[in-house]
Amino acid sequence: MFATLSDRLSDTFKNLRGKGRLSEADIDATAREIRIALLEADVALPVVKEFTAAIKERARGEEVSQALNPAQQIVKIVNEELIEILGGETRRLRFAKTGPTVIMLAGLQGAGKTTLAAKLALWLKEQGKSPLLVACDLQRPNAVNQLQVNGERVGVPVFAPEPGNGTGNPVAVAQASIEEATRKLYDVVIVDTAGRLGVDAEMMQQAKDIRAAVNPDEVLFVVDAMIGQDAVNTALAFQEGVGFDGVVLTKLDGDARGGAALSIRSITGKPVMFASAGEKMTDFDLFHPDRMAGRILDMGDMLTLIEQAEKVFDQEQALKAAEKLSGKGDFTLDDFLTQMQQIRKLGSMSKIMGMLPGMGQFKDALANFDEREIDRIQAIIQSMTPAERANPKILDGSRRLRIAKGSGRQVSDVNQLVDRFNEAKKMMLQLANGGGIPGMGPVPG
Ligand code: GDP
Repeated sequence: MFATLSDRLSDTFKNLRGKGRLSEADIDATAREIRIALLEADVALPVVKEFTAAIKERARGEEVSQALNPAQQIVKIVNEELIEILGGETRRLRFAKTGPTVIMLAGLQGAGKTTLAAKLALWLKEQGKSPLLVACDLQRPNAVNQLQVNGERVGVPVFAPEPGNGTGNPVAVAQASIEEATRKLYDVVIVDTAGRLGVDAEMMQQAKDIRAAVNPDEVLFVVDAMIGQDAVNTALAFQEGVGFDGVVLTKLDGDARGGAALSIRSITGKPVMFASAGEKMTDFDLFHPDRMAGRILDMGDMLTLIEQAEKVFDQEQALKAAEKLSGKGDFTLDDFLTQMQQIRKLGSMSKIMGMLPGMGQFKDALANFDEREIDRIQAIIQSMTPAERANPKILDGSRRLRIAKGSGRQVSDVNQLVDRFNEAKKMMLQLANGGGIPGMGPVPG
């Protein structure tokens, strides 16, 4: 799903790696690449324009986060904007306060409505509801039977006209189903309506009549995600002809390019509520814009890391550290300790490293990393005087002995710490001069 779009976007981000700062030209190039990626994914032009404009504006201004490097910042912005165009918050079903909740399905033939009806019924059943499926597609010869077969598969009863008794009126069937549900205490009624191969006035009228007759709590427009931008045009036709509250995207397991998913909400103003992704009855769930964005970006844990880094990264300290590193100040043992503590705040070392692309090779070493080491370092540093912390060069033999005693460690531990500090200082200087951690680009500042 959305594979080409994912690849395209991740290439775009790769081009930003290693950049210390984003120039106007970088931002323009990035926006252009994102634009092409979206157009290729068949996203509607107005949505593409709005999206790239938002990315540009945000990349230029407001939020120059100290916690993230430019590539990460762009990933973050694109992720947030994707969530936004996918609908923001997850939109959940509204249930009726009294009587059965009525959910009506509308859409073209072949969209996956009948399959979806059964999937939705199963999903509701698993949440403790007792749904009733209603066959109102009396046009397609096999539709009633197909719903019955699907109903049986998920163990949900189907309300349908008696075969051969001439009740060919879907509006009457829909009405009768509500009475049946009320009488037999079903709490959700799922009404499957007729579709046609293309948008047609009679189909629209029939759906409109059913809608008027049963006054649904939710009208769901079911659409095949594989048809790309055509989905948007169909949605607009249904919006005008019948009206709907939410969208269900089906066949997301196929090679859908993303156009339908990314355009429909912006163009119709209605949220995608469910995603159906497979032939199995359980291949169905609420549509979560944030998870979908994460999957499109295909950066899973990188996004989590960005979030965590932002949460714990103290801007002021970052600025101070950056200043020191660029030679305006000196990197002291206090800074070293602060850094260690910030790293710990991010979570266990091995977890952090596991999240960074390309860090797999250090997994073993990290698995053996002892977190208590940071406590020991802290104890030693805290046994030093401010003057010693600011200038470790003055740490002679007798000072080291005093510090070892004060912290309950050996002199060799103190020596080791000073060596590590000197190493770290060297490494920090390298990073500050643009070296970078593999996969992350240079440190901010
Ligand atoms: P309807 O005409 O709208 O009622 O559509 P159907 O429910 O009969 O589905 C049309 C075809 O699409 C059937 O062959 C289904 O098995 C298939 N289908 C429905 N939903 C999905 C899905 O999420 N993924 C895949 N791969 N196929 C689906």
